[in-house]
Amino acid sequence: MKLMIQEDVSLKDKVWFRTGGNARYFCEPLTVQEFQEAFQFAHTHNLQVFVLGHGANVLVSDEGFDGLIIHPKKGSLSMSEHSDDFALVTADAGVLMEEAIKFTLDNGLTGFEVFSSIPGSIGGSAFINLHYFDALMSHFLVHAQVIERETGKLLTVDNAWFEFGYNQSKLMERKHILINATFKLKKSTDVEVAFARGRSMEISRHRLSRYPHAYTCGSFFRNFHPDEVTLVKNGKKIIWVAYYLDKIGVKGALSVGGVQVSYQHANMLVSSDQATSTDIVNLARTMQEMVKAEFGIIPQPECIFVGFKEHPLHLTS
Ligand SMILES: Cc1cc2nc3c(=O)[nH]c(=O)nc-3n(C[C@H](O)[C@H](O)[C@H](O)COP(=O)(O)OP(=O)(O)OC[C@H]3O[C@@H](n4cnc5c(N)ncnc54)[C@H](O)[C@@H]3O)c2cc1C
Repeated sequence: MKLMIQEDVSLKDKVWFRTGGNARYFCEPLTVQEFQEAFQFAHTHNLQVFVLGHGANVLVSDEGFDGLIIHPKKGSLSMSEHSDDFALVTADAGVLMEEAIKFTLDNGLTGFEVFSSIPGSIGGSAFINLHYFDALMSHFLVHAQVIERETGKLLTVDNAWFEFGYNQSKLMERKHILINATFKLKKSTDVEVAFARGRSMEISRHRLSRYPHAYTCGSFFRNFHPDEVTLVKNGKKIIWVAYYLDKIGVKGALSVGGVQVSYQHANMLVSSDQATSTDIVNLARTMQEMVKAEFGIIPQPECIFVGFKEHPLHLTS
């Protein structure tokens, strides 16, 4: 076996919340063979596996993870022809979105800049179907290579295979791990690229001034599905979870231990150096209970929980 597997590795510095315990085993595969070796190791030692990207949307238990963390190595990007108007860009799972945006703009391609300043890897972004207002990662993804966890088989799959929706992809079944993905991006003139760079800077400026951008996982709770809510405004159901969290007055006001609800956004929890994952869980549960008491509905986590024996929040399904 060529893949290096490390033992007892801290995950604190690998997740955006900067909390949580250690991984029993940890590896960083890049090639298909290395990913297959990682699954083989887990199989042989009867270990649970968790795939960790850039750690921008996960909370690791203070007890750590008693299994194998697969952290795809960064890898690379490449470009190929598609048509007169479009080119294809293939990125390994561990490539960061910010690197992909830079690569596309540097190569005269536009589209990805809409995701500027959203942290995450290609793998994690496909998992959640990265979204910013109406833009979704699924608008760009053409095909991908995934490994089936059970068999270690490499599959090439197309966009339809992912069954993408808002906050939704087939990767959430956790039966496959994404190895790389190929995106279709628009070939653009120098002026169009210059405008796209300006748009990228403006989106970043807007995001950085409006939302916290460190020690957080972004939106902690997902928006509600229309069938989960009854409140209507201007003829439309209010599905935005931040609306309900704003109403209960937690923004900048509620904290537990070393973590608090951001003063900028009611759906973002921000940790400090003193915070533990238990603090984050306790704060999130309190927020769920407050919304339930006021509106009779329970916000559901968008953040992914790792290493908890049971899910520590109130789940509705
Ligand atoms: C400040 C901030 C702002 C954010 N704003 C937004 C936003 O505007 N829009 C948005 O959509 N999200 C947003 N997020 C959430 C986060 O950026 C996305 O969920 C991102 O795609 C996570 O990628 P990651 O690599 O960090 O994944 P991780 O957090 O490491 O993992 C998330 C999930 O993806 C799975 N995963 C990771 N890699 C793979 C792989 N190769 N194959 C299969 N599964 C995999 C993991 O197992 C896990 O279940 C924000 C987060 C932060 C911290």
